Amino acid sequence: MLLHTCCGPCASACVPRLREEGHEVTMFYSNSNIDSSEEFEKRLAGARRLAEADAVELVADGYDHGDWLKNVAAGLEDAPERGERCAGCFRYNLARTAAYAAAHGYDAFATSLTVSPHKVSRVIFEASADKRFLKADFKKRDGFRTSLERSAELGLYRQDYCGCEFSRPRNGGVRMRAEQKRGEK
Ligand code: SF4
Repeated sequence: MLLHTCCGPCASACVPRLREEGHEVTMFYSNSNIDSSEEFEKRLAGARRLAEADAVELVADGYDHGDWLKNVAAGLEDAPERGERCAGCFRYNLARTAAYAAAHGYDAFATSLTVSPHKVSRVIFEASADKRFLKADFKKRDGFRTSLERSAELGLYRQDYCGCEFSRPRNGGVRMRAEQKRGEK
């Protein structure tokens, strides 16, 4: 089973649950939606820490925020969180996960994105029609609380925004930065 991993804190609630259900888990950190390579690396370090603590394999996907901006965010910079841009973002990350799972012989994949109370699990489930997608809703059975507790125990970095520049709490000038990264300004 390949677990698409958005960050260590969210995955910390998923790995034990999948194991309880009898799955052998590999974490797949795929996060080109993150707005900077520094933030990408910070979240990757947390995912690695969890992988070590739980003794699971971790695969890190490449980081290509320019591709994400072009294929997901273009024209949707002002869409609100939980809107169309986020649905496209789920499709993007799950497509990469599905491709990796297919290329490397995994029977199934799931995503840690469903841990977050800020994300609607139904929209995440609609983002991939792949037969191997296990629609596990990790926010059920107190998943989010588990992620908070385990993050504190393991000292994992917990970010205060979802990931792309459009989700930064202070977002004055956000659009301009995105356009600069796409080379439009
Ligand atoms: S707010 Fe989060 S889910 Fe939505 S597009 Fe940005 S990174 Fe993706």
